[in-house]
Amino acid sequence: MKKILLIHTGGTFGMAFKGGTLAPSAFINGIIEFVPEIRKIAEIESFIVANIDSSNIGIEHWIKMADVIARNYEDFDGFVITHGTDTMVYTASALSFMLEGLSKPVILTGSQRPLSEIRTDARNNLINAIELATYPIPEVCIFFNNKLFRGNRAKKIDVWGFDAFTSPNYPILAEVGVDITIYPENFLKSRNGELKVSKEFSNKVFCVKVFPSMKVDYLMKLLELDLKAFVLEAFGSGNLPNIEERSLIPFVREAVEGGKIVAISTQAVYGKVDLSLYQCGKDVLEAGALSCKDMTTETALVKLMFLLGKFGEDIDKVKEFFYVPIAGEVS
Ligand code: ASP
Repeated sequence: MKKILLIHTGGTFGMAFKGGTLAPSAFINGIIEFVPEIRKIAEIESFIVANIDSSNIGIEHWIKMADVIARNYEDFDGFVITHGTDTMVYTASALSFMLEGLSKPVILTGSQRPLSEIRTDARNNLINAIELATYPIPEVCIFFNNKLFRGNRAKKIDVWGFDAFTSPNYPILAEVGVDITIYPENFLKSRNGELKVSKEFSNKVFCVKVFPSMKVDYLMKLLELDLKAFVLEAFGSGNLPNIEERSLIPFVREAVEGGKIVAISTQAVYGKVDLSLYQCGKDVLEAGALSCKDMTTETALVKLMFLLGKFGEDIDKVKEFFYVPIAGEVS
């Protein structure tokens, strides 16, 4: 029988209603007792890293999760992480970058309703995530509502429905119906080396969603801070206002000249940034910005945090590696 390590971090999955509000509960200590049938799928051991709303997850939790996986890597065939849905894609992206040489499945899952509720999606998500973790899938994934996504390609798109995630620019890795269908052609090539964990991150990054009539002066103020990289979530294919007092191009130019990185992502869910399609994008490119291409904003931000950490905030190195895929996060 395959061996799976179940790592709990929190989220709605293990919460309970307290007077109409969801909060972490002690119930999670008995997770396996609550869904004993998972023992028919695999030999399961569990480990609690945290029991918090995923809004409170940060770099230190990413490192703890990666450490638990690394410490137990040889003894288990796969890893399932229960995690809040709100920041699940950030954690999945971080782990996908940190776990170099990963050749076993690491599957994050969670739920929209707690496991303790009768009409819950937690049970289905957990059972299937565990089943899929027994397959030879060499990457960090998210399983939700019968679909397995590459973790760093996924995006949370629904706060209410059970179909909370999508993978806008990359096909799914597997789906669950009467049978389980896997699509190995979509997997990362197995990196059968040794697992190496990179744990350095920098949070000297900032993310701004651009909107009509945004004042460039406010953005300029950010340049006075000790920030190393910005992600600007721009319009459409990566466009920024470029005329007269509306123009945000001076911010891009000044940031880049000051040795900072400006990466352009898009507010659109599907498709990729193409800075040469419109003049409003071309001006951004000429001012020295990078394109996030088909990376999600969340993944681009975590990638910058990771590269800044890895290269000791050496901006030229970060720029050089920004376009190089680490774990299939960019086409
Ligand atoms: N606020 C919760 C969390 O992310 C939402 C969820 O788990 O679905 O922890």
